[in-house]
Amino acid sequence: MTVEKVVIIGGGPAGFTAGIYAGRSQLSPVLIAGQSLGGQMALTSEVENYPGFPEGISGQELAQLMQKQAERFGTRIVMDQVTSVDLASHPFTVKTYGGTYKAQTLIVATGASPRKLGVPGEKEFTGRGVSYCATCDGFFYTGRRVVVVGGGDSAVEEALYLTRFATEVYLIHRRDRLRAEKVFQERAFRNEKIKFIWDSVVTEIMGGESGVTAVRVKNVKTGEEFEHPTDGVFIYVGNVPNTQFLAGQLELTDRGYIVTDRRCHTSVPGVFAAGDVQEWVLPQIATAVGSGAMAAMEAEKFIAALEDRAYPERSE
Ligand code: NAP
Repeated sequence: MTVEKVVIIGGGPAGFTAGIYAGRSQLSPVLIAGQSLGGQMALTSEVENYPGFPEGISGQELAQLMQKQAERFGTRIVMDQVTSVDLASHPFTVKTYGGTYKAQTLIVATGASPRKLGVPGEKEFTGRGVSYCATCDGFFYTGRRVVVVGGGDSAVEEALYLTRFATEVYLIHRRDRLRAEKVFQERAFRNEKIKFIWDSVVTEIMGGESGVTAVRVKNVKTGEEFEHPTDGVFIYVGNVPNTQFLAGQLELTDRGYIVTDRRCHTSVPGVFAAGDVQEWVLPQIATAVGSGAMAAMEAEKFIAALEDRAYPERSE
């Protein structure tokens, strides 16, 4: 079986950047992208804070550009899902639904997925009124009413995006102030279509054959409960890392993120992690890109050492 020099798992900004850097280092990386390209970036309606795009760019477009750039330098992109890895013996083994790969180095850039609310009706109505992606589903709510759950950057940014389509957007947040950046907050407060339900949580999503019709809302301070009629529920209550396939193979934090040092090294030599899957202070496209570059260069160094090529140690 062919032993790849670098296998990258994850097709978001960290993975694509690792692909660009490993590709330019002549390592001919394989990038296993999962089922869709771009990761969370592709679910973002408008990216305004990634340098080089002063007018902003849609997350999907940015993902396509990054993919093209990675492919230009020889990254082979495979649309498949990793099911398990064996990191106990070297070369490492990566199993997907479609095949098995052997790799000298592995870069894990699997990011994080939207956290579920975990309330009755959420699972039942997913795709029929419950969504985690305004960019994908916002259009279906043209002329209709929606609620957004959460108070972070994602909730507020996507609530603003939804005002393009919906007649009213209610943002339901469990506290009395938003966590989102000030610039998003100000825009939301100025937007007449956005209304706020403070100190409140959604306890149930209700509906019928045709989809969602209402949410049950509970005020956490007074205990008061009421039904709020709506056609759609967009949930933005944070993320959980995609590391289930790594259990027992790598050191993870209590919350399931990969433990890394400043150079993206994990607890297993030759395995690197980049982007939001790391225990991370600032989950942004800009930082994911930086760590993707770092992981690829560290993988290159690891391979050079394996091949006994002289490689100058860089100072910190
Ligand atoms: P987040 O910052 O973790 O915010 C999650 C929000 O959901 C918080 O307001 C939290 O409330 C609320 N929440 C959590 N669990 C809940 C529950 N069970 N029920 C009700 N509400 C709940 O997540 P995010 O907004 O997805 O952002 C993730 C990261 O990506 C952040 O670091 C963010 O800055 C970054 N991001 C950046 C941009 C940008 O710069 N353009 C855009 C999107 C995301 P509390 O506030 O009470 O904790």
